[in-house]
Amino acid sequence: MAIERTFSIIKPDATRRNLTGKINAKLEDAGLRIVAQRRIQMSQAQAESFYGVHKERPFFGSLVSFMTSGPVVVQVLEGENAVAKNREVMGATNPENADAGTIRKEFAESIEANSVHGSDSPENAAIEIAYFFAGSDIVG
Ligand code: ADP
Ligand code: MG
Repeated sequence: MAIERTFSIIKPDATRRNLTGKINAKLEDAGLRIVAQRRIQMSQAQAESFYGVHKERPFFGSLVSFMTSGPVVVQVLEGENAVAKNREVMGATNPENADAGTIRKEFAESIEANSVHGSDSPENAAIEIAYFFAGSDIVG
């Protein structure tokens, strides 16, 4: 299995509750390596563009205002099968449906404030990583 990279965000509900370290421990325990990481305040334009695929969904406005409500931690994760592995560690979008031990089951507040983002395909991972990181920011 080839080494792969994925893009991750620790969302404002989690940074607000000081959960960055606990979430990073779950990622690392799953064998994912944090090869780039930066804490930022997302602008409205950045959040709208990042979540552009959801712009027709009824929750779009609320999602953008949630994602700009406080700092987030943007990350690049590396490991075998990293995209799928991260989705597994994250758990289902709705924490009520997430498996025991997943980040969203343990930490999410709601379907919106669900603590983490993770890319859904290697193609989207490459696009999302390039949105926040230069190649020289990533040290594997
Ligand atoms: P995921 O983050 O699991 O890939 P989606 O890509 O479908 O899920 O949605 C992106 C984000 O939009 C979710 O993580 C969540 O923060 C928010 N979201 C998704 N569905 C809803 C919903 N029904 N109501 C409110 N927010 C939602
Ligand atoms: Mg998604």
